[in-house]
Amino acid sequence: MDQLERAARRVAAAGTVTVLTGAGISTDSGIPDFRGPNGVWTKNPAAERMFTLQAYLTDPELRRRSWQDRADHAAWTAQPNAGHRALVELERSGRMGALVTQNIDGLHQAAGSSPERVIEVHGTLHAAQCLSCGARSPMRVVLARVAAGEPDPPCELCGGLLKSATISFGQALDPRVWRTAVRAAQTCDLLLVAGSSLQVHPVASLCDVAVGAGARLLIMNAEATPYDGLADVVVREPLAEALPALVELVVA
Ligand SMILES: [Zn+2]
Repeated sequence: MDQLERAARRVAAAGTVTVLTGAGISTDSGIPDFRGPNGVWTKNPAAERMFTLQAYLTDPELRRRSWQDRADHAAWTAQPNAGHRALVELERSGRMGALVTQNIDGLHQAAGSSPERVIEVHGTLHAAQCLSCGARSPMRVVLARVAAGEPDPPCELCGGLLKSATISFGQALDPRVWRTAVRAAQTCDLLLVAGSSLQVHPVASLCDVAVGAGARLLIMNAEATPYDGLADVVVREPLAEALPALVELVVA
């Protein structure tokens, strides 16, 4: 029996599956990952600085560049791929409890995953948030202000700095969102990791949480992860093919 078949049997036998996705599921939609061979930070290590909260707060030039990058982000034109659609099918089969994602691109919801099951632990690019008063607004509204000539648009309520509603390095996760993710890891029979290199904490520690609570761990990622040794099954194949193949075996 190959790894994919073993993985499918585990998923089919599980009552509740929690899925954890990372950048690897969106690369086939044209959104570059961070640490892969063609990753944003692999090719340009200085770009990592753009994602620290301290730099964002103190460097107006970096904020202006960040707004341009948001306006040019691949997510605005990206379409969900076969991997995203496979998880919609897994949900429809009644097995998926929650879909925890590190991605900020909104492609799971665009594919048809129920928004109430998608837990965006690193936030979303589709909203902007004021760093002073916390007010949120749709990102497209703020990007329209950028396009109209405000290179670093302030909060219209309090004048504070605006940022995408995503988690930067040095910024804490939203505690309510994080608790929901931990609960989803604690209460599942199987944690299916799809396209995460499991190098970012605390999200990667959801593997420890799930296994500690008695769940099986299944990892599908193009490259090795620090958690492969803890996994029941590891599938190291291109996700856009392996994930649909897995779900087809499960729902067949
Ligand atoms: Zn404000």
